[in-house]
Amino acid sequence: MAENPQDWQTETKLVRGGMVRSPYGEISEALYLTQSFAYESAGAADRRFSGEEPGFIYQRFGNPTTQMFEDRLALLEGAEVCRATASGMAAVHVALQGLVRAGDHIVAGRALFGSCRWILSDWMPRFGVEVTYVDATDLEAWKNAVRPNTKCFLVESPANPLLEVTAIGAVAEIAHAAGAKLVVDNVFATPVFQKPLALGADIVVYSATKHIDGQGRVLGGAILGAEALMTESYKDILRHTGPALSPFNAWVLLKGLETLELRVTRQSENAAKIADVIGAHAKTKRVLYPGRPDHPQAAIIANQMSGGGNVVAFDLGDRAAAWRFLDALAIVDISNNLGDAKSMATHPCTTTHRSMPEAERLEIGLTEGWVRMSVGLEGSGDLIRDVSRALDAA
Ligand SMILES: *Cc1c(COP(=O)(O)O)cnc(C)c1O
Repeated sequence: MAENPQDWQTETKLVRGGMVRSPYGEISEALYLTQSFAYESAGAADRRFSGEEPGFIYQRFGNPTTQMFEDRLALLEGAEVCRATASGMAAVHVALQGLVRAGDHIVAGRALFGSCRWILSDWMPRFGVEVTYVDATDLEAWKNAVRPNTKCFLVESPANPLLEVTAIGAVAEIAHAAGAKLVVDNVFATPVFQKPLALGADIVVYSATKHIDGQGRVLGGAILGAEALMTESYKDILRHTGPALSPFNAWVLLKGLETLELRVTRQSENAAKIADVIGAHAKTKRVLYPGRPDHPQAAIIANQMSGGGNVVAFDLGDRAAAWRFLDALAIVDISNNLGDAKSMATHPCTTTHRSMPEAERLEIGLTEGWVRMSVGLEGSGDLIRDVSRALDAA
């Protein structure tokens, strides 16, 4: 009986999706470290280049190991096509650049990963693309920002670092009414807990560096969407500008996908417990976690996310208290990555968001007391002890 992989459960898609075995019958996916490919004849090369005959040509265009990673992630996401990139930022950059021309306009949620903000505020204007930032939770603000030349909306939900959540379906409707495409950066939610394409988004981007690797090893990224849009907007830019993912990194990420559901489910359980411990501590002014009923967008979260994810943000009042907390941690590392098996915490104002002008930081509510914690796979008892002791010290 032939199985249809699209009907598989998530866990099966992650372990077996996209696998193409070589004649050796390997169990672990093969790593094809090859830049180029040989053709059987001059005619075969001609047909390969013309697109008449399928097959690989050059690593910048595609590679069998990279394609296994792309096909597995596409299957998980429910996307027709996935294209891998060398990093999450390459994915965000290409995803935006492919949708706009000089004279066009982008609307973006104002709480964004720092490098995404640089692309929008510093890079896009060099090519005559205008950008408007909005409070991503305010649907009227999205509507009011639309101009005749608006081609693209960008949302990160939950957003970094304060986990603000946007109603993806409602924003997609506003984008489509304006003739624009909605791009969602789905890193914090992970492909396990939120499916932006099913909610109405046109394009989803990932930093695979985060949960998809999840073990702190390689950079990677991905762009996913419907075949027609992926071909029209991204095929040529990916071929000719060179953000290709290394097949070695694709292999690491392919193996990362096998355990993704297990890891993010356990991380999310740990994060929920830790968010409650933090929320109940006298030193905490405020805790934000998408799995808690006191999250400002709890109703939207219930509609569009199937898990809270592994990031918790909390306000300890001022920088000195936040730093005392970080310096008192004995298990959790002070580090700015997220989604890793190892728990880590960071002070966004002096690390990830230090280049954001203070006025803009205050607009998104990011004051000096906030700490962002990425909860890992350690035992929850050990993490709770470490975090409780550090909160006492704060
Ligand atoms: C890390 C991150 C990126 C960038 O990914 P890299 O792989 O580091 O280039 C983009 N968006 C979000 C939300 C991220 O957390």
